[in-house]
Amino acid sequence: MQNASVKEWMDAVIKPEQVEKYMENGKYFIDDNYIHELLLQKKQPDKQEVREIIAKSLELNRLEPEETAALLNCTDEELWQEMYEAGLKIKLNVYGRRIVTFAPLYVSNYCVNSCVYCGFRGGNDESVRHRLNRDELRDEIKALVKKGHKRLIMVYGEHPDSDVHYIADTLKVAYETKVDNGEIRRSNINAAPMSVEDLKILKDVGIGTFQVFQETYHHDTYKKLHPRGIKADYGWRLYSLHRAMEAGVDDVGIGALFGLYDWKFEVMGLLYHTIDLEKHFDGVGPHTISFPRLEPAVNTPFVEKSSYKVDDDTFKKLVTVIRLSVPYTGMIITARENARVRREVIPVGCTQLDAGSNIAIGGYNKEDPDHSRQQFILGDNRSLDETIRDLARMGYIASFCTAGYRCGRTGNYFMDIAKKGKVHNLCMPNAILTFKEYLLDYAGNETREAGEQLINQEIEALPDNLVRQKVLGFLKRIEAGERDLYL
Ligand code: SAM
Ligand code: SF4
Repeated sequence: MQNASVKEWMDAVIKPEQVEKYMENGKYFIDDNYIHELLLQKKQPDKQEVREIIAKSLELNRLEPEETAALLNCTDEELWQEMYEAGLKIKLNVYGRRIVTFAPLYVSNYCVNSCVYCGFRGGNDESVRHRLNRDELRDEIKALVKKGHKRLIMVYGEHPDSDVHYIADTLKVAYETKVDNGEIRRSNINAAPMSVEDLKILKDVGIGTFQVFQETYHHDTYKKLHPRGIKADYGWRLYSLHRAMEAGVDDVGIGALFGLYDWKFEVMGLLYHTIDLEKHFDGVGPHTISFPRLEPAVNTPFVEKSSYKVDDDTFKKLVTVIRLSVPYTGMIITARENARVRREVIPVGCTQLDAGSNIAIGGYNKEDPDHSRQQFILGDNRSLDETIRDLARMGYIASFCTAGYRCGRTGNYFMDIAKKGKVHNLCMPNAILTFKEYLLDYAGNETREAGEQLINQEIEALPDNLVRQKVLGFLKRIEAGERDLYL
């Protein structure tokens, strides 16, 4: 596209009235000074207070900002151990021993924005640009389906050549592409903020979760790190998921990029974001929270220079506080983290991970040795099968289940299921069934062995005998060749 028409397109994207309608007295729901004040007020929480807050989380109540601020400021290692244990209990209570597994699929990396931390930023001459055409996209999807994937997150830069119509078309291709027994049953999207009208287009072609990360909730830092382009508008991004919910996209995913500003501030920002979504949408908050950490990217010196980088110990703490603050929200740990870190933080509360990931455009079919087609560099390069084997040995079932979404069990409905503890008689059986399909169709021998053992344990652990009998019947049918059976 010519520069003049790119400019014209950019000028038309933001619809101020779709931001203003959610503001209160002309203000955003993030008040930087108040967050700093709260963190200061709760600087030295006493033991008793922290234990009472942990008890509230264990009863599966969402925390209030002052409670989260107290947890963030805790310095007592004994209490942190109690929080890690509480994180695991909450995870097992709400989600069971399953972990939803997906693959990222980078579709286009043209971008009009200039986020200083991102390898895809416009003006980075060392980034090789490409937008997948339909044939290339089909090849990428086939490569993923052949490995056993059923769920994707499709990722796009912000550009008129990858606008909502292109995204909708690529989503259709994802759902249409089949290989033998395999297909993509749910595709989430991580793309730039859109208007309500555009989001309705994505809703109509079956978008899964719509994800937009605020990156940093801190206004001044946001301004500094997003100097140009549409993304320079903090408010357009802050309310992007309100607009998605308004457009009927039931599941939305928030996130902050840790390493841009103070980690405690960002956790508070994520909590305020959750609370504001709950306030506007009948108690329904985000479906997932992501907490990516800054990773190196080609020709991106900012990453090495940032003074807010988060070390591994702090990372585990922030993941734990998020778990305790929002017991019902899904939490995604990405392959930005290496295998060791992922093993450490899964037990404190994560519910989803990507596996066998490649984030180069066209990367599932073509090597990218100099990382020039990648947004940043991944920490966990294990295959899907290796990751699943590792999870099985840790006692977690990799779930490819998408039944919940296809049955309309999303948004409010999912929250209701989770709150009534029905996950164990619904989601866990479905996780077992999709895991069985994976073991039969795609797993190596060692993974199959570890997986079958785990399935036997988890069937024993199902709380309801009728459900157990039903699952055993379905497993026999799957062994006989049937697929996509769910409760
Ligand atoms: N372009 C869209 C946007 O910015 O909303 C789509 C998402 S972008 C391709 C995906 C996410 O990658 C960003 O929201 C950001 O949090 C993350 N990201 C960017 N640069 C990164 C880096 N150097 N390390 C880790 N994550 C990064
Ligand atoms: Fe573009 Fe997204 Fe990268 Fe920013 S983070 S430069 S918007 S691809």
